[in-house]
Amino acid sequence: MSITIAFDADDTLWHNETLFAVTSEQIGTLLAPYADAENLHRRLIDTERRNLKLFGYGVKGFTLSMIESAIEVSEGRVSAREIQEILEAGKKLLAHPIELLPQVRESLESLSKHHNLMMITKGDLFHQESRIAMSGLGELFSAVEIVSEKNPETYRKILHRYHIDAEDFVMVGNSVKSDILPVLEVGGRTIHIPYEITWELEVAELGSPDPARCRRCHSISQVAEEVARFYPSV
Ligand SMILES: [Mg+2]
Repeated sequence: MSITIAFDADDTLWHNETLFAVTSEQIGTLLAPYADAENLHRRLIDTERRNLKLFGYGVKGFTLSMIESAIEVSEGRVSAREIQEILEAGKKLLAHPIELLPQVRESLESLSKHHNLMMITKGDLFHQESRIAMSGLGELFSAVEIVSEKNPETYRKILHRYHIDAEDFVMVGNSVKSDILPVLEVGGRTIHIPYEITWELEVAELGSPDPARCRRCHSISQVAEEVARFYPSV
């Protein structure tokens, strides 16, 4: 039996949300004359939620939503120079070097000797491709899927396309909403590795899932032992 282990990328293999948080804070300081940090933050989250269907996930959508929020909270008074600074902050995020989470490369190298590894990430196609290239991890995965949304239908399609039985599929990721719940729904197994912060639009309740199908650990280095627990005979 061959097991496929699929990994989420952002906040599972490399830092992501912390960079957005730092950038949001910098822009908050820039826009402090128009709105306090909390008010701007609420406005940004509302705007991002509204725009998700139009812009999808990723830095470009974030940047546009930030500009929209700046115009709203300033009631149109935000200056061209300030908008330019928001654009620059977005570009800096896009060009930011990849910082792998601890033990990612070693763990993937070791897992790839015994299992088929995939990457399933959502976000902006162009940016995610460049990050995968920058990460130097690309060759460890037999397939990389960059998807616009991670719902049960997305996972069903991927399993079908690669002729993978859901019983032989394990998804590893930091997001309960994107990496865990939809995979459990299609009959796969999951390993949840929480990241230090969760984007508000990714927050979801896990409840108390069957430990035979869903495990939680604190480092990617524990994935091998959790997989062995799922499949004692492999
Ligand atoms: Mg993630």
